[in-house]
Amino acid sequence: MVDITNVGQNIFMIDDQLYSLPGWGSVYLLNEEKKALVDTGPSTSAKIVLEGIKQLGVRPEDIDYLVVTHIHLDHAGGAGTLIKDMPKARVVVHQRGARHLVDPSRLVASVMEASGQAMMAKYGEMVPVGEGRIMAVGEGDVIELGRGQTLKFFDAPGHAPHELCIYESRNRGIFTGDAVGVYVPGQEFLFPAAQPPNFNLELCIGTIRRLMTLNASRIYFAHFGVTEKVHKMLQMAIDKLLVWDRIVTEAVKQGNLDSAAAKLTEHARADVEAVRKNRVIYEYLTGYSVPTSVSGFMKYQREKLATG
Ligand SMILES: [Zn+2]
Repeated sequence: MVDITNVGQNIFMIDDQLYSLPGWGSVYLLNEEKKALVDTGPSTSAKIVLEGIKQLGVRPEDIDYLVVTHIHLDHAGGAGTLIKDMPKARVVVHQRGARHLVDPSRLVASVMEASGQAMMAKYGEMVPVGEGRIMAVGEGDVIELGRGQTLKFFDAPGHAPHELCIYESRNRGIFTGDAVGVYVPGQEFLFPAAQPPNFNLELCIGTIRRLMTLNASRIYFAHFGVTEKVHKMLQMAIDKLLVWDRIVTEAVKQGNLDSAAAKLTEHARADVEAVRKNRVIYEYLTGYSVPTSVSGFMKYQREKLATG
């Protein structure tokens, strides 16, 4: 049985067993007149996603839209595999990311370079999406799913330049992808998603501030789960980024940028101690999220210093 949770009216969260970890990857099914998935997981999760859809009584051939919050492989890598079973589905993607789904070679090469073969194996093959199946969207675009349910798209740069946040009108919830950070449910813990190569602090904080103005009732995180404490979690996301920024700024003032990475790592590792009892996620955060987020954050800071 696939682990599925009803997280809103007509909205179901499928645990896609991302990297074979339970409780780390969320794929959402919006079961309306027109049916949509938000995020696909990587191709290694495609089988579980298909099983989950069927478990909910929905036929894969009835899916109309595969909406990807951004093109990182854990969010969009499975789109080309899934649409083989979804003949009418269109892949909805930010206009800045669309070409990388049609021709994933550059995207895959950059992931290989940044993360290596072992990580690539966890994502699996990225099957290209035919150009005719792509629906490129951006700020202000709307998709009607029927019976009053609409999806409204927002440009959400910061974690990645090709990120979308999606507001759904039925429950007034927002799908945030990685724009806000990663979330550990139950413990109301949030951690910055500042991965390289494109993390941008100013844009990220701007996006989160903007999400605050939407007055949403809940956030559907890609990693992992749902919170109704919208303002609290968005504020926590901003506060943590500002603390990270202060740590680096102070190290720079003392003329030692190299020590900033070490200080930031120490701080981030202490922060994730809060979720230590969630062994699986704690180990993932410690082993992967902490070093990659610190490295993306430092890359951004170095480039900012270099350009004055
Ligand atoms: Zn991402």
